[in-house]
Amino acid sequence: MSYEKERERMVANLRMVGHIKSREVVEAMRAIPRHVFVPESARSSAYHDTPLPIGEGQTISAPHMVGIMLERLDLKKGQNVFEVGGGSGYHAALVAHMVGEKGRIISMERIEVLAERARKAIEECGLRERVAVVVGDGSLGWEKGAPYDRIFITCASPEIPPPLVDQLKEGGKLLTPLGSRYLQTLVQVEKKGKKLKRKTYGGCVFVPLVGEYGFS
Ligand code: SAM
Repeated sequence: MSYEKERERMVANLRMVGHIKSREVVEAMRAIPRHVFVPESARSSAYHDTPLPIGEGQTISAPHMVGIMLERLDLKKGQNVFEVGGGSGYHAALVAHMVGEKGRIISMERIEVLAERARKAIEECGLRERVAVVVGDGSLGWEKGAPYDRIFITCASPEIPPPLVDQLKEGGKLLTPLGSRYLQTLVQVEKKGKKLKRKTYGGCVFVPLVGEYGFS
């Protein structure tokens, strides 16, 4: 079966079980080729609903988890987004598709070699203008690009890093797996003045955030 047919089938399955619902998320997952973001050796599994190794002990998240996070991010055209944990670049490419030509995403990854591969894959998808992949500790945010409409963390976080809250716009939303190194809950906070309005979703398992506000 061609990659395109496999991708259609993956999207149809994710819709059927209710992980993805909105037209925008469905269109993005149809448009962005996941196989471009996984190593050659794992390409035959690119459209299986499972995390896959991307090297350096890291993973590209399972499509259902990516879809759930895209739904919860509530993205709009033209938004300015910050991602912590760029990994393969797949999630960033989907967000770039959803925020459109006038939107921007800064995707921060701590491992240089992964960042370089992510840049290449993003370029292959024609999204270089909308995505900047930068290297560093994302738990400190990226002041230069702030303030952000949306921030999302794609690794397990023991707390919501305070610099990320500072860099979020008023009314902005931050989404993160929050909990221990081995088990987390997906949490969304909305910035309302000095308060954070919190919503809690289901359980999830991500690789740990490593850095100032992460696990040591
Ligand atoms: N969003 C990614 C994708 O689409 O492939 C999947 C991310 S993977 C589950 C988590 C990533 O977070 C890993 O690549 C890891 O190196 C990175 N990471 C961990 N701690 C980090 C930090 N403090 N700053 C930036 N990246 C971090």
